[in-house]
Amino acid sequence: MTIMFNKPPRMRTADTPKGERVRFDDLDAGYPGRPVLRQLSAHIPSLAMTALVGPNGSGKSTLLGVLAGVIDATSGRLLYARGRPPAFVPQRGAVGDALPLTARQTVEMGRWEERGPWRRLTRQDRAVVDSAMERLGVAGLAARQLGELSGGQRQRVLIAQGLAQQSDLLLLDEPTTGLDPEARERITALLTDLVADGTTVVQATHDLEAARSADACLLLSEGRLAGQGRPEEVLTPTALSRIWQPA
Ligand code: ADP
Repeated sequence: MTIMFNKPPRMRTADTPKGERVRFDDLDAGYPGRPVLRQLSAHIPSLAMTALVGPNGSGKSTLLGVLAGVIDATSGRLLYARGRPPAFVPQRGAVGDALPLTARQTVEMGRWEERGPWRRLTRQDRAVVDSAMERLGVAGLAARQLGELSGGQRQRVLIAQGLAQQSDLLLLDEPTTGLDPEARERITALLTDLVADGTTVVQATHDLEAARSADACLLLSEGRLAGQGRPEEVLTPTALSRIWQPA
């Protein structure tokens, strides 16, 4: 079954080829007056870590937004294997520091899609929130204001919010950018554990080390696909120098 755009992606389930959690063909997407993704065709392998790599402005966030359903494709085809709607963890900088939210309230927002923001959380919702916070090692920060946390702590709170959505498809925008090496390693290890537990993870990243440790890589250049496959096949010195230092 092929289901087309202009519907929330959760409506666009279909039988993707085996082993593919998401498939897209000839995808065009962007912003009013600003086309970004051009004729993009690729897939996201199931139960694996995929790194979206490319220079600033190459369209990584735009692609994540399309996969998350917050940006509509203007043409092309987007298919999801059957499963839960994706959980999207936006860039840390996109989440206002000044918002008067505690860490726990931030994670609780992950239940809103299921419950509605106006409904009280159920006991089951609270258990899901507790378990996501414990998993990310942020249970002890529950009462702290989001704006007071370190970058690494805030990132873990945002990932816990994603986990609280209980999706098997987790999309993250630059989860390790701007963090110190220890915080970066901790997050990379957590994401690797999530994959081992049955989650499909897609992360946009500038961190070539993180990208090299992924199972699969999508390399973007000016909104086009410049490579897809295993990191060692895609992130070759030639490909990287071509993309990062255009003649
Ligand atoms: P990346 O994540 O690889 O840095 P983006 O997807 O954020 O790339 O951006 C791709 C292009 O789209 C850039 O040229 C950027 O300036 C533009 N862009 C991003 N967000 C918007 C927006 N909300 N409105 C208009 N243009 C945007």
